[in-house]
Amino acid sequence: MQSKQSANSTEVSVENAGAPVRRPEKKLRAGVLGATGIVGQRLVSLLAGHPWFELTEVAASERSSGKTYAEAVRWHLGAPIPEVARNLVVKGLDPSLDCDFVFSALDSSVAGPAEEDFARAGYPVVSNCRNHRMDPDVPLLIPEVNAAHLDVIPLQQKNRGYDTGFIVTNPNCSTAGLVLVLKPLADAFGLEKIFVVTLQAISGAGYPGVASMDIQGNVVPFISGEEEKMEAEPQKLLGKWDGSRFIDAGIGLSAHCNRVPVIDGHLECVSVGLKKIASLDEVREALRNFEVGAELAALPTALRNPVVVLDDENRPQPRRDVDAGNGMAAVVGRVRECPLLDVKLTLLSHNLVRGAAGAALLNAELLAARGFLKRRVTPSESQLAEPVSR
Ligand code: NAP
Repeated sequence: MQSKQSANSTEVSVENAGAPVRRPEKKLRAGVLGATGIVGQRLVSLLAGHPWFELTEVAASERSSGKTYAEAVRWHLGAPIPEVARNLVVKGLDPSLDCDFVFSALDSSVAGPAEEDFARAGYPVVSNCRNHRMDPDVPLLIPEVNAAHLDVIPLQQKNRGYDTGFIVTNPNCSTAGLVLVLKPLADAFGLEKIFVVTLQAISGAGYPGVASMDIQGNVVPFISGEEEKMEAEPQKLLGKWDGSRFIDAGIGLSAHCNRVPVIDGHLECVSVGLKKIASLDEVREALRNFEVGAELAALPTALRNPVVVLDDENRPQPRRDVDAGNGMAAVVGRVRECPLLDVKLTLLSHNLVRGAAGAALLNAELLAARGFLKRRVTPSESQLAEPVSR
């Protein structure tokens, strides 16, 4: 493996499996908007000890701002609050944070304009939120699926008058696992129709989410806006960027979404109509052999094989399989014939990792590797640079 300093940037070029992969020479400073929420906490936890990024700012609502992170957050993870975060003072949504880019895990009631404010102020915004996902100049990104969609960023900056800022989004938590599994099938056989029924965990609703009286020993067959997102987002993700606009994949898609009393992990029962006839073994092979290229494999959060296929007839299960691949894998089982469409299967993905925080982190890593994230002169540094009057 060779390493060399690039002439005019803060990045190092590293040879990885024959392809040059860039990583930041100095850690990039990350802020987390909505850092006190369920997704924000996962981001804070994943950023601790990250090789490319360091957490320097946390922001949330007026309820939290001014407190230390440890005082403000109702921490839900097993591992303790990372030391780097404990004493950070929670800020509000003023776009003047000491960081090079921000993750957004804000409640969707405020995420839309807040993300635009940060992008306008020059911050790249890596968002979990629904607000800008379907905008015609915003990438809705799963690196393993549609990395080429990042090419829209210069147009977004031109359209909106952004300078160094921009917005990139990751999909809804149930769409993330579904599309990761559909991608190798789309490439190998083409997709005609998808019928999907979800069994979604309660952490997908944030905290406190669904009232315990509603979900304990029960199933709620409605999640507001979820079916619409699941039917729209895969069209953009599996579609193409043609240089001036996104072209939908044009797949027939029907989704039924249910909330079930599981803490983490969305299970999905999927029937797939393929364009090309394929045997069940060919479908299993296509899923098993789904492998990312050298550029993605070099990203710290990426898995070389992001789809795991299990043969046991009673898997995947949320309790047993949700953490596969550190929560970044989509786990598939029960691949079998479908009497209505062609093939049916069950899949599981971690809604807070592959469906939210891990997805955003992977997106940021790809942005860094492609040179979209740069060191910014932040307010504290510009003050330091000012001459001291005596
Ligand atoms: P959550 O637990 O309810 O957290 C919401 C966060 O937004 C908190 O940090 C909260 O701060 C902040 N916030 C709320 N109102 C605000 C305001 N007026 N001004 C500034 N900050 C405000 O929600 P979550 O589940 O983490 O979800 C966060 C985002 O990710 C949502 O847009 C959600 O749709 C999306 N998402 C969630 C999942 C999932 O599985 N949960 C998956 C994919 C995407 P305070 O603590 O100060 O109130």
